[in-house]
Amino acid sequence: MTETPPAPTAPLRARAEIDLAALRANVRALRDRAPGAALMAVVKADAYGHGAVPCARAAVEAGATWLGTATPEEALALRAAGIPASVRVMCWLWTPGGPWRRAIEEDIDVSVSAMWALGEVVEAARAAGRPARVQLKADTGLGRNGCQPGPDWDELVGAALAAEAAGLLRVTGLWSHFACADEPGHPSIAAQLTVFRAMLAEAEGRGVRPEVRHIANSPATLTLPASHFDLVRTGVSVYGISPSPEIGTPADLGLRPVMTLSASLALVKQVPGGHGVSYGHHYVTPGRTTLGLVPLGYADGVPRHASGAGPVLVGGKWRTVAGRIAMDQFVVDLGGDEPQVGSRAVLFGPGDGGEPTAEDWAQAAGTIAYEIVTRIGSRVPRVHVNG
Ligand SMILES: *Cc1c(COP(=O)(O)O)cnc(C)c1O
Repeated sequence: MTETPPAPTAPLRARAEIDLAALRANVRALRDRAPGAALMAVVKADAYGHGAVPCARAAVEAGATWLGTATPEEALALRAAGIPASVRVMCWLWTPGGPWRRAIEEDIDVSVSAMWALGEVVEAARAAGRPARVQLKADTGLGRNGCQPGPDWDELVGAALAAEAAGLLRVTGLWSHFACADEPGHPSIAAQLTVFRAMLAEAEGRGVRPEVRHIANSPATLTLPASHFDLVRTGVSVYGISPSPEIGTPADLGLRPVMTLSASLALVKQVPGGHGVSYGHHYVTPGRTTLGLVPLGYADGVPRHASGAGPVLVGGKWRTVAGRIAMDQFVVDLGGDEPQVGSRAVLFGPGDGGEPTAEDWAQAAGTIAYEIVTRIGSRVPRVHVNG
């Protein structure tokens, strides 16, 4: 297919370039992994920091038929941006008093884990004069959101069936979420599948006819075909990031990281040996050297926990954050090299241009790559290319 060239970019302090061609290829690769299931692209949290609307559009172009968000506000924002009702949108994190009626009117599938939520959605459907699309969420072992098996599930399924008979809702889905899918072989995975099948059988035995049954997130989609059911809910893998190094690198999985975070060096200067660098002087130059100032900090989502450890490609070489990461800036020791002020410092990207990856930053900060991309702040412009 023809790719449009990257938009001409004015010199920016910093930018997160989002490669939508890579995102589309990732969606296609994931569809190939789960050929019997529909694909939901999870675009919560501004598409894990990548920009919800352009990423949602690109995912749909590549064959995603569902979009998933955590909050109803995120789901409504997709509709407000023009994502048509032919694309199913589901959201799953509700609190009392949430915008149920608007969600119903905007053809959003809503998740219900408890009787309080079923009560609110039924009332909203009555007010809206049309049935809600409700997906009942089972807690098959995650111990987070979802309805417990046993009497709680009995009660919720019974109440949903009664509301369906009254024309107030349609149970469009039965679903759950894994606790440890990123640790293939973890005994909880098989245990959760067993509980899920039992909870499905109970609901279906009582007359629930869901359009979709689903439990697989990215790691389950990539490692466990038995978990695919009718729909897979892929998030981090859509953005080209492996759910965990244990499962493989993005390249092993046929994925390509979508976000490249870079900045323009704001200053390059020579300093003597023994010079403290940044707050607290946790780095002291070992000898005469050059320092480069990178205009990104924890206000931009660069994790302060990666102080003294985060890798950055500058002038063709990996450098390490020298001393503390501050709110707006950090310093790298350039070891005597003198790249021009304004040259590009790449914190992470796909990795094939020699730059570090989000996974490298996750290791430096003691976290997961999910968090590294998602936390990049709103002060960093997203530049979408290959749209
Ligand atoms: C975030 C989320 C997903 C996507 O998980 P990934 O591991 O990023 O694929 C799927 N389902 C639910 C309920 C989620 O909250």
